[in-house]
Amino acid sequence: MPAPQSGIANAALPNYAANKLWFDKLGSPKISMARIIAVANQKGGVGKTTTAINLAASLAAASLNTLLVDCDPQSNSTSGLGFTKDPERRGTYNVLIGECDAMSALQPTALERLFLLPAHKNLIGVNFELVDAENREFRLRDALAPLRDRFNFIVIDCPPALDLLTLNSLVGADSVLIPMQAEYFALEGISELLDTIERIRAALNPTLEVEGVVLTMFDERTNLAQQVTAELKRFFGDKVFATTIPRNVRLAEAPSHGKPVILYDERSRGADSYVQLAKEIIAKHMPGFEAFSEPTQAESSEQLAEGEEKQVVNAPRWRRWRDRNKLITMDLKS
Ligand code: ATP
Ligand code: MG
Repeated sequence: MPAPQSGIANAALPNYAANKLWFDKLGSPKISMARIIAVANQKGGVGKTTTAINLAASLAAASLNTLLVDCDPQSNSTSGLGFTKDPERRGTYNVLIGECDAMSALQPTALERLFLLPAHKNLIGVNFELVDAENREFRLRDALAPLRDRFNFIVIDCPPALDLLTLNSLVGADSVLIPMQAEYFALEGISELLDTIERIRAALNPTLEVEGVVLTMFDERTNLAQQVTAELKRFFGDKVFATTIPRNVRLAEAPSHGKPVILYDERSRGADSYVQLAKEIIAKHMPGFEAFSEPTQAESSEQLAEGEEKQVVNAPRWRRWRDRNKLITMDLKS
């Protein structure tokens, strides 16, 4: 057992030194400052974590330096990327209570340009331990500040509550991305979040924007889905993403394999939809940057193996992009 370092609880130093080497190998980002996007909705089970993981992975797959911050004590983003629950590992908790800096807690992932600030259930303690702390709402913003010039995008997975963790995420973010299911009372549930955003704008983060609303687990064939979409568009206008995320079993299976869907089944509709969402976001913030090369004419008209098609008719041929876009995946265990 290494001797604990003063001021840094639970340090397991050899790994962190190796992780820093991975980090130092990252190319310089293509924009100067990261855009920080909090994925939030206080309603549980709407697809926040699925969106955070797969949006972050798709951005990294587009060769953009991306950090996923797990800000939820459930730690689903952490386990969904294949990390075991390890109370010894530094994570968001240690960063928020000031035990270590964010850089020293970053973990490389199987995608070369995707890093994770992991969480553990101990993160719940932040809600109590920081109650009377100075600057308690600004902890995450201040912790991420030194990383902003190393990443193109920082995606924060929030818990299903409007607690101090979500508050820190919204104060630290440039924008909030709201995943929603097309349910009849969807808009009613969202008003509390919008009130919170307004209050944060007024008091703590005047430049906080709504990045957009994305419909998740979407089944376009139902009348209800069409009605809710129309209602949402009346309310949010062009803030509703053109991309919708279909209900897709590959998205639900991928976390149990510890992988984003793009590495689990790159030809699934789920993978394609999150690539499209990433493209929309990249087009908005990095105009002119070609996120993924489109399939060539030959590739688009290519005959598909029996049984492969229908559901993937619009899916880009990711393996070929991977070569063409020089995406590097890594087997960290080797
Ligand atoms: P929580 O509020 O508990 O943090 P969440 O908003 O992060 O939940 P997820 O964990 O992403 O929601 O999703 C809830 C469940 O729905 C998970 O089992 C997930 O695998 C599944 N799921 C999410 N999106 C999809 C989808 N598009 N298709 C199929 N299953 C999905
Ligand atoms: Mg979640």
